[in-house]
Amino acid sequence: MARYNGPSCRLCRREGMKLFLKGERCLSKKCAMERRPYAPGMAGQRRAKVKEYGQQLREKQKVRRIYGILERQFRGYFKIADRTRGVTGENLLQLLESRLDNVVYMLGFAPSRAMSRQLVRHNHFLVNGGRVNIPSYRIRKGDVIEAREGKKKAEYMLESLKSRGDTQIPDWLILDRDAMSGRVANMPSRENIQTQIEEQLIVELYSK
Ligand code: SF4
Repeated sequence: MARYNGPSCRLCRREGMKLFLKGERCLSKKCAMERRPYAPGMAGQRRAKVKEYGQQLREKQKVRRIYGILERQFRGYFKIADRTRGVTGENLLQLLESRLDNVVYMLGFAPSRAMSRQLVRHNHFLVNGGRVNIPSYRIRKGDVIEAREGKKKAEYMLESLKSRGDTQIPDWLILDRDAMSGRVANMPSRENIQTQIEEQLIVELYSK
């Protein structure tokens, strides 16, 4: 599947906020947003006035980049969210949050969503005992995600888990560090999603 292969830090600078795309580096002084907190390119430091459409577009791009999703798939998520009962913006965020690659990242098995996607693709995880290697696989309440037997001692996963404190695991997930597994206690709600997102702007953009 096609995906963005350019520099991740450029995306944060474009969106004017840390999107936490590179794991540990994002928390260090090496973070590009610490050193150059302005948009990339020649006109990056110029403060352009952002109009309504621009704000909506930026919000959509920001969310797409946080979850590492291309435009077509993102639009597909929006269509499902729009058809689902409830608030469209919240439905959209819940769909994104319940992707398997995001859940693996949230449980702390990988330091970034990009890496968790790679681990899922490379068959590192079982969902309810069965092998699943589709990053967009949608998890449900009660699902159990666990590292495959041969991968439970993989250093990169143990390192990532070690650096993730228990308080950083969201309430809707229960992590069992010894078993290298996690259970979906509840589906994520809007309050569980800490990232600053104004999902209403995305709804307005796609409703034009
Ligand atoms: Fe973004 Fe992380 Fe790069 Fe900082 S280090 S600019 S948070 S991807």
